[in-house]
Amino acid sequence: MKVGVPKETAVNERRVALTPDVTARLVKAGVPVQIEPGAGTAASFADEAYRAAGATLGTGATDVVLKVQPPAAEEVARYAEGTVVVALFQPSAVREVVTQLAARKVTTFSLALLPRITRAQAMDVLSSQATVAGYKAVLMAAAATGRFFPMLVTAAGTLPPARVLVLGAGVAGLQAIATARRLGAVVSAFDVRPAVKEQVESLGAKFVAMEITEQAETKGGYAKELSEDTHRRELAFIAQQVKEADIVITTAAIPGKKAPVLISADAVRGMKPGSVIVDLAVETGGNCELAQPGRDVLENGVAILGPLNLASTLPFHASQMYARNISTFLLHLVKDGALALDFNDEIIRDTCVTHGGEVRKT
Ligand code: NAD
Repeated sequence: MKVGVPKETAVNERRVALTPDVTARLVKAGVPVQIEPGAGTAASFADEAYRAAGATLGTGATDVVLKVQPPAAEEVARYAEGTVVVALFQPSAVREVVTQLAARKVTTFSLALLPRITRAQAMDVLSSQATVAGYKAVLMAAAATGRFFPMLVTAAGTLPPARVLVLGAGVAGLQAIATARRLGAVVSAFDVRPAVKEQVESLGAKFVAMEITEQAETKGGYAKELSEDTHRRELAFIAQQVKEADIVITTAAIPGKKAPVLISADAVRGMKPGSVIVDLAVETGGNCELAQPGRDVLENGVAILGPLNLASTLPFHASQMYARNISTFLLHLVKDGALALDFNDEIIRDTCVTHGGEVRKT
């Protein structure tokens, strides 16, 4: 069983599915690895480092293909029947490619569908890449604002610290809180899941609470869509909170659904000029009504940033974490040096998008 890592072809994708150290781990486990020349260059991993790790360099067909982005149509056309492809994507976002993969009898896994269970934690790319996004969102906000983050006492006067509000305190939100705190900001955060309060406070931030009488959390620990009435109250509550903030980072998501709108256009107009919003949910519809995917919007002096694929902007460490996740997943598929797909296993069943000519997840 040979594993191949192609150079990512999507625009603005700088990550690579395997790093040299993880390649060495796979080679040691008896899995031969082939890396396309230049595959790691954008993430600062040289071909020579992969060769030293025991990989071959080339572009020949392999039994398994490890990727970050879903394959492009031209890539799918080159796969032989029975090839196994592992990548990170929502099947609904690339329906045509999924149909093509099934037609070519390729077995495809998406790590975006991984169950968030303890057994799968080491494979959890959603968490590792959200960590990168949460961190980078704060750096983007710090670069865009006209203020210092920390309080400064200088001969030229005392400058107050920036006030940062984080909406949605899951993996990305908690990392944003930690990063903003390290830069010296005064941070507060809000989430509909009550369990989050303690985590927010343990990072030195204030939890701003709104009374929510309905059950806002699923058994799996995710947020649920709020009732219309509670959502209306939430919008009014947040409109008050954002008035005080210099920076707002939004990360709220509901798995499989459009992201909830948390900041209305009116709420933006109520904010101080010079404030910055970074909307991490822009890819799934946005938490701020005025956010635009991949664009910066200026409304009433408020900058609204809608960055796409933030994880790719920190490619070295994002790839390092991704490579550990995907290699753990791969080794989970292998028994005695050969692929063994046990569809009774939740991890394999839930992530399998195409197999044996069928589309299993849409
Ligand atoms: P996510 O990306 O789906 O959502 C981000 C955050 O937005 C969540 O905290 C959610 O509660 C919040 N949110 C949703 N709707 C909202 C609204 N209307 N207003 C305010 N906030 C709203 O979530 P995630 O970061 O991927 O993970 C969520 C939780 O799952 C985390 O707390 C994490 O602990 C847990 N998790 C568990 C495992 C595991 O192995 N058991 C692994 C990863 C994550």
